[in-house]
Amino acid sequence: MTTMKPESLALHAGYRADPTTNAVAVPIYQTTSYQFNDSAHAARLFDLSEMGNIYTRVMNPTNDVFEQRIAAIEGGVAALALSSGQGATTLSVLNVAQAGDNIVSSTDLYGGTWNLFANTMKTMGIEVRFVDPEDPENFRRATDERTRAYYAETLPNPKLQVFPIREVAAIGEELGVPLIMDNTASPIICRPFDHGAHIIVHSCTKYIGGHGNSIGGVIVDSGSFDWVKHAERFPLLNQPDPSYHGAVWTEATKELGPVAYIVKARCTLQRDLGLALSPFNTFNFIQGLETLSLRIREHCSNAQAVADFLAKDPRVARVIYPGMTPEDRSERTETYLPEGKGGLVGFEIKDATTETGAAFIDALQMIYHVANIGDTRTLAIHPASTTHQQLKPEEQLATGVTPGYLRLSVGIEHIDDILADLDQALTAAVKGTARAA
Ligand code: PLP
Repeated sequence: MTTMKPESLALHAGYRADPTTNAVAVPIYQTTSYQFNDSAHAARLFDLSEMGNIYTRVMNPTNDVFEQRIAAIEGGVAALALSSGQGATTLSVLNVAQAGDNIVSSTDLYGGTWNLFANTMKTMGIEVRFVDPEDPENFRRATDERTRAYYAETLPNPKLQVFPIREVAAIGEELGVPLIMDNTASPIICRPFDHGAHIIVHSCTKYIGGHGNSIGGVIVDSGSFDWVKHAERFPLLNQPDPSYHGAVWTEATKELGPVAYIVKARCTLQRDLGLALSPFNTFNFIQGLETLSLRIREHCSNAQAVADFLAKDPRVARVIYPGMTPEDRSERTETYLPEGKGGLVGFEIKDATTETGAAFIDALQMIYHVANIGDTRTLAIHPASTTHQQLKPEEQLATGVTPGYLRLSVGIEHIDDILADLDQALTAAVKGTARAA
């Protein structure tokens, strides 16, 4: 099975047919709990000497298929599905860091992740050290003996400059720090584990679900990080856990393969914080995975066409698309995104003010104005007044959001219809600005 390509794994990994009915579509196991065979069976499940279903907050057969499938697509060993992408990010960090520890994160982040790191994690006593990923060595410089992880997005919006995965993963290998990559914006087209990343998180809400109907997240473990070698840095995985009758996670999971990180996240954090993903939503994500490889290619080719169209348009001052901005390192883009540069495009209208941006958004007819990405439909937003509004102006600039920045998540409609709507909205925005002047 693992020799299949990601496109095939998205259809076949983790499930052939339902064991009782032979149903080919993965059933929605809409159950909270599972009958134990007998008391001894129940005891074995609880003490982890046998793996099996106990309670849907912690595991569910529908979720299990999805977890196996996404782990296989990314080339990992195990995954944990969660109720949102934010949940996935939160647990990916809390699984290795506690009060007094720190992580080093790229500045180029989704606004919600920035807030989580800059504010909420701080209240938990976890310091997040933000560094500019332009120079990968910044990660080394910010590392000390209490650094528990590096964190970054593969294709961070709004800057859309591809993260130097190999370079930072190599620093992490040297210093004993795992690299967690948020791969939400580039499933299939980038496989961060192939470049040395250790953990992946996704907001499944975006391209994986694809149809804009369900919120969810997932953490995937590559199995490649040696938690035992760096036992001093990772007491949460290597010292007895009082919340699980003294289990040492790297010991307790030895027989199962290199899955200590995911088993611990499931058995402790998911048990305690309860970010359970509804099996109904998981079903939608499984449907999404089946066409993900086709959709993502269409998103990429439409986005490239939109970027080319905007770059030639005299009403547009600047287009932000991987490989198109002068500050973008094209060799990085080619290394990490050889087959498609993603579905997100940023741009600024000439002499744009916040009002021009708003006029453009309000003139759109087919394209939706929503705070989301990765939908089959084309979406647009003005980040400075919406997704990044809670950030201070200097923080907005650090993440790449200027007052006139407009973000498009290019969908899979016919390209002519997307370009026609952009064209008429640009005309309306520029006319409106001229009138006001
Ligand atoms: N990561 C990225 C890159 C995102 O764009 C988002 C949401 O927009 C998230 C994480 C959070 O995901 P969710 O909305 O599913 O919690």
